[in-house]
Amino acid sequence: MEVLEGLKTRVYRFGNKTADGNSKMRNLLGGKGANLAEMSAIGIPVPPGFTITTEVCTEYNALGKEAVIELIKDEVEKSIASIEEQMGTIFGDKENPLLISVRSGARVSMPGMMDTVLNLGLNDEAVLGLAKRTKNEKFAWDSYRRFIQMYGGVVLGMKPESKDDIDPFEEIMEHLKHKRSIELDTEFTIQDLQDLVYDFKDAIKKRTGQDFPTDPWDQLWGAIIAVFNSWNGDRAVYYRNMHGYPADWGTAVNVQAMVYGNMGDNSGTGVCFTRDAGTGENVFNGEYLINAQGEDVVAGVRTPQQITKLGSKRWAELAKIEENDRLNDFPSLEELMPSIFDELNRYQDILEKHYRDMQDMEFTIQNGKLWILQTRNGKRTGAAMVKIAMDLLREGMINEKEAILMMEPNKLDELLHPVFEPNALKRAKTIAQGLPASPGAATGKIVFFADDADKYRNTILVRMETSPEDLKGMNIAKGILTARGGMTSHAAVVARGMGKCCISGAGALKINYKNRTLTVDGNVYHDGDWISLNGSTGNVIEGKVETMEPKLGGDFAELMQLTNKYRKMKVRTNADTPRDAKTARSFGAEGIGLTRTEHMFFELDRIKAMREMILADTVKERKQALEELLPMQRADFEGIFEAMDGMSVTIRLLDPPLHEFVPHQLATQKELAEDMHISLQAVKNKVAELEEFNPMLGHRGCRLGNTYPEITAMQTRAIIEAALNLKERGIVCKPEIMIPLVGTVREFEVQDGIIRETAEIIFKERNERIDFLVGTMIEVPRAALMADIIAKKADFFSFGTNDLTQMTFGYSRDDASKFLPIYIEKGILKADPFEVIDEEGVGQLVKIGTERGRSTKPNLKVGLCGEHGGEPASVEFCYNTGIDYVSCSPYRIPIARLVAAQAAIKTTI
Ligand code: ADP
Ligand code: MG
Ligand code: MG
Repeated sequence: MEVLEGLKTRVYRFGNKTADGNSKMRNLLGGKGANLAEMSAIGIPVPPGFTITTEVCTEYNALGKEAVIELIKDEVEKSIASIEEQMGTIFGDKENPLLISVRSGARVSMPGMMDTVLNLGLNDEAVLGLAKRTKNEKFAWDSYRRFIQMYGGVVLGMKPESKDDIDPFEEIMEHLKHKRSIELDTEFTIQDLQDLVYDFKDAIKKRTGQDFPTDPWDQLWGAIIAVFNSWNGDRAVYYRNMHGYPADWGTAVNVQAMVYGNMGDNSGTGVCFTRDAGTGENVFNGEYLINAQGEDVVAGVRTPQQITKLGSKRWAELAKIEENDRLNDFPSLEELMPSIFDELNRYQDILEKHYRDMQDMEFTIQNGKLWILQTRNGKRTGAAMVKIAMDLLREGMINEKEAILMMEPNKLDELLHPVFEPNALKRAKTIAQGLPASPGAATGKIVFFADDADKYRNTILVRMETSPEDLKGMNIAKGILTARGGMTSHAAVVARGMGKCCISGAGALKINYKNRTLTVDGNVYHDGDWISLNGSTGNVIEGKVETMEPKLGGDFAELMQLTNKYRKMKVRTNADTPRDAKTARSFGAEGIGLTRTEHMFFELDRIKAMREMILADTVKERKQALEELLPMQRADFEGIFEAMDGMSVTIRLLDPPLHEFVPHQLATQKELAEDMHISLQAVKNKVAELEEFNPMLGHRGCRLGNTYPEITAMQTRAIIEAALNLKERGIVCKPEIMIPLVGTVREFEVQDGIIRETAEIIFKERNERIDFLVGTMIEVPRAALMADIIAKKADFFSFGTNDLTQMTFGYSRDDASKFLPIYIEKGILKADPFEVIDEEGVGQLVKIGTERGRSTKPNLKVGLCGEHGGEPASVEFCYNTGIDYVSCSPYRIPIARLVAAQAAIKTTI
């Protein structure tokens, strides 16, 4: 493309086996634009067009409409001329009009979140020219009504006025269908379509006061600006926030010559996947419709047909359709248009090999010629993600490092979700059969509107079909069930992307939104009734079905094995009970990074002893109460040590403020007074005494141990005796005793002294010893700054980033929910710092603490516990900071292991 020296290029062309851009330029051209360019260049038939860069979107947000049009006008006009030349048609011409689509595309795919306008360039004159030229009047008018409908909605704001309204254009169409006693939009006559065009324009004029724009150039600029605006539309913003995509990425605009799937029975449009996006199985699959355009397949306007014969047979079996009826009414593309199918099959193979990943493609057949309109790495469930990567690895298409890097860490979570308990499933009553659109097991109460998704604790969203407006509710619901739509319907695609269980196209369901009922075979189910979905089979089940933990083997196990080969950082778990410890080990934990001892005190019989200890007036009384706690705590530690069998176990001494343990309700206070043989008033006084204005900054952590040394002594005794008892039984354990909330080195030294002294006493008593470490949490900013001094005394550090975040920002964790969401919405904070570590600030303290600590003790062992230990971005940060291990809750361990491997691989490439 000709660009003047020094001038920035804002428009990149593609088409006719050449392109200015390529697939690596997603940030600039958006995913769709980059792939359209790449496909053109490698010889896939793509209608010619051009992409306006994402940077222009950002310029538009800064400069406004007029200025940005000025910036790109020249390039856009020249690029339209280039499409005209390739297509042999003329934009805005009456006789031989060029029609174009105006599409959106951010650097990551956001299916359905932004807007597209098709058939742009039509007006009352051009439609006649198009009809004459194509000798297909019906097609021309169908295209015109579609154009007005889309342009009206996207550019002129003709959306439903409220949640209960239907789309104003749909309403007009339904009305006409009713009047004409027809069901499908393919049944409209030319006259009907002309009436629709007239009525649509009329509705637009009435509502907006504007005439529908007739000048194609006005239409084009209107659509381009509308696409830019859709980047900041509600749907897109919600989706962006959900995935943490920043607002400044912007969207590109793709302008492309139209190809027509609505020219008759020799035309059509469809969507296909090179592998199964639900299970990962290596089978080509997809859906199409004859005589249809654009989103028709996805929106479920008619029952879509399967691409492959195999898929079609499977589908007919589920839908209980006889072979003859299938062949007559729903033949596969493979059977109906074998040579087109062969060509499509060839392209899917080429594209998958080219991108070396599962592809999700859009195609259109215009009068027997196949065009590809989009390809992208397909969205998939967590299970499919693992299977596809391991298959591609075995097929030799990618190497081990690539397989690991292909994983989206958080998606592993889905594999760990419960599945239906097989026996409960056998007893279950299936009430309807739909398509297994997204695997998984979901049980919940029926709701019929996305807004009701949070009405009960567990909900199943039941809809005729879903639309992008329902996204938020879909995200909250446990499962999604639709009466209409196929495997590539909106509901199906979005659910797979979310890893959410979904059944689509359960045709037997009669849904009545007004009465909020679901009727199947005469049985009526209401809002609030329980149903269950088996997303792997498409079975809709009455009532609640029991679930159980999934069995993890096969590809998942292989993947986890593979991560060990590349990972350098260790992954430990946070576990307070032997059960947690066992679960964590089954996920591959390499030790415990945090055992919170206080949780052990909350159980029924123990809380009493704990309260007696707290309410004690003298050291003697306190010691007595602690004596009671000792055996219980020792037994807990034995259980945990045994479960970890030789691995390191870090135990944190008592941390929370004491008022958390005392009763605040009158009845319980009375009970306690009786038990302790003291007056109610005495209990009340003590409770009042423990009250703090700011408990998080109050009498807690090592401040407890330093004021009540006997607590530290008791806990130490429990730990050391437990370890000695196990040693007797031949089980090795190496406790790491961790002192919380240290800010000054003296705080540590005093505690360290008590611990070591107590241990020596026990060693003498038992005439036996074990090795143990004494280290500290680094969670007060002062400790990070004084790390060089503290490290001289401490055996290890563990960053407690929950408290460290709280104290560095000065945000109370318990009150932050009042302002954090608003801060994130307003862009004051990029993410919740309690979820994703704040690398710039809190992260700096982690770096400083690690560096200074190792400056005086070069091989100081440094870990990180706290919620961040299982969050992908934070885990990567830990690796890059040189931390030895992260510690996270058991179910986050696979994620931490994967990210640790990814981070290590990234530094080698
Ligand atoms: P989304 O990003 O939401 O998938 P698209 O830009 O891909 O939106 O377009 C919506 C629909 O219109 C798709 O089905 C696509 O295939 C179709 N479409 C887009 N451009 C053209 C075109 N030039 N000719 C025919 N169909 C098109
Ligand atoms: Mg698309
Ligand atoms: Mg803490």
